Amino acid sequence: MARRETLAAKKQRALRVFEALRETYPDATCSLDYRNPLELMVATILAAQCTDERVNVVTKTLFKKYRTPQDYVNAPREELEKSIQTCGFFRQKAKSIANSCAAIMERFGGSVPGVMDELTTLPGVGRKTANVILGQCFGVPGVIVDTHCTRVSNRLGFTRQLDPAKIEQDLMKLWPRDMWTLYSHFMVFHGRAICQARKPRCSECPVAGLCPSVNNALKTASRPRRQALKVVASKKREH
Ligand code: SF4
Repeated sequence: MARRETLAAKKQRALRVFEALRETYPDATCSLDYRNPLELMVATILAAQCTDERVNVVTKTLFKKYRTPQDYVNAPREELEKSIQTCGFFRQKAKSIANSCAAIMERFGGSVPGVMDELTTLPGVGRKTANVILGQCFGVPGVIVDTHCTRVSNRLGFTRQLDPAKIEQDLMKLWPRDMWTLYSHFMVFHGRAICQARKPRCSECPVAGLCPSVNNALKTASRPRRQALKVVASKKREH
């Protein structure tokens, strides 16, 4: 049975993974388009179960029409729903946006708050959305746990949890605070490009030599991929 990795060893490995991903994705950042915290809040709510590309198409028009929290509050609900329909779950999302904006008007003087405890009181804003807003707009680092971060961080052996709050706690122990937001962006970029849900492309992965799951991928891969992965796995053993 493999020896259990100490926290100190895991931190060392985590730093090396971070550096390799920084080299691979030097431009990694939030892929949602926004100009201010309100727009990012709306975009992040729309991004649930939807691609960032689709959200960016929808918000291009939406943000011209709705510029303040009051605009969303005043909008006839059906009109708002129609504007965001192609993002899916549009009724629930329109309700979250309108209710969040009403709360921003009533309790926060019309400005999106820059504090976790206040942000998470807004309807439709959980820790993930709050960490996106805090990291991007307020310079407050946070680990953003989405589907990519959950899958890739588990494969990398940085957590064994599936619950986002527990994953966040595990990951926060591995790097200094100022690396948390960037690590989250790396997870999205890496999860889309290489460590994909169905078939991780381990033979092309820049952190294969640091990943405990590379051998699992070897077991399930097709023959040509197995050959490529064997090379990766042998490189791993050399480290
Ligand atoms: S080696 Fe494979 S499983 Fe590990 S991070 Fe890379 S693509 Fe994902």
